[in-house]
Amino acid sequence: MHVLVLGAGQLARMMSLAGAPLNIEISAYDVGSENIVHPLTQAVIGRGLANAIEQADVITAEFEHIPHHILDICENSGKFLPSTQAIKAGGDRRIEKALLDQADVRNAKYYVIKSREDFEQAIEHVGIPMVLKSALGGYDGKGQWRLKDLSQTDQIWNEMAECIAATDTQAIVAEEFVPFKREVSLVGARAKDGSVAVYPLAENIHTDGVLTLSTAIADTELQEQAKAMFTSVAERLEYVGVLALEFFDVDGTLLVNEIAPRVHNSGHWTQQGAETCQFENHLRAVCGLPLGSTKLIRSTSMINILGEDTLPAEVLAMDGCHVHWYGKEKRAGRKMGHINVCGDYNGELQRKLCALANLLDKQAFPAVHEFAENFSE
Ligand code: ATP
Ligand code: MG
Repeated sequence: MHVLVLGAGQLARMMSLAGAPLNIEISAYDVGSENIVHPLTQAVIGRGLANAIEQADVITAEFEHIPHHILDICENSGKFLPSTQAIKAGGDRRIEKALLDQADVRNAKYYVIKSREDFEQAIEHVGIPMVLKSALGGYDGKGQWRLKDLSQTDQIWNEMAECIAATDTQAIVAEEFVPFKREVSLVGARAKDGSVAVYPLAENIHTDGVLTLSTAIADTELQEQAKAMFTSVAERLEYVGVLALEFFDVDGTLLVNEIAPRVHNSGHWTQQGAETCQFENHLRAVCGLPLGSTKLIRSTSMINILGEDTLPAEVLAMDGCHVHWYGKEKRAGRKMGHINVCGDYNGELQRKLCALANLLDKQAFPAVHEFAENFSE
């Protein structure tokens, strides 16, 4: 089987690593340069979307911000999965919010803004405090504003107006501020026959809008809620592949924050913590193979490595620690790799996170340090 991935980043790379034992070969299409590249070496192996499509048995995507004309060409080939509709929903918060409503899953109250009058309406409808997000192009907390006080209205409107004016299709989605206790996400897969397998929920810590620490958790009640919402969204989209749902946990009730129609950063822990990792399950699903078990095999956390290209040797030497580099050039804040750390039981994992805090720089790994500080209190 030959799978073409739209996007040539770390997610295509990890799909390639996971596909090899199943004889699934991956090539990656860099949407910007129009090069077909090897997902591990980045070597250019071809050019042009038509060639890339021709060579592939199946086409999928590692990101959602893909121009619609490219998605339409892929759709017309009859080879694209999960579905172009799902990718469009992940890339446009207006479509995403409409989808969540149609799937009848709880999500924050919202209002779409194109003009100053809309902004006033949004303040009426959604209330203050309010989170404002660009409909297109946002990721890692970018393209967002927080309206906490009416005195900020003019300032925020000026910035949003500039964002709206930048492209014809841009808008802002105003959302009620959700006073969540924590953030969790559910990664799961839906196969061509409609069967669904979800991983245990992950609890996610963000620092400055970017995921820094993700830990698989066991919570039967939340897991049930999350799985029902996952199934509802996946069925609505007739989805095939791995899908992630991000949630706010408000005192034991989950609200969907957003969806990611792809393998997800909060599912990287499955490489060491689950029977079958998310990358393999995505490939299994899109290639029409049976899904692999999503069972937790040991307590696992994932730590993102941001803007760093080296780690102390002791990290690699630590029992239960697995380092995954993405082969990228170092840049401030860039996702360069991740560490999966495992323990045979929760207490052991917690001790290892504390041991890692002693090895890792506090500025670069704030979430691990925060965990260790709270743990010792
Ligand atoms: P990513 O794609 O990296 O997950 P993003 O840029 O798409 O991020 P969101 O996930 O929508 O953005 O928001 C980023 C973070 O901002 C959330 O993880 C959450 O901490 C906070 N946030 C977003 N929406 C709300 C809300 N309505 N109420 C409170 N906090 C929010
Ligand atoms: Mg998010």
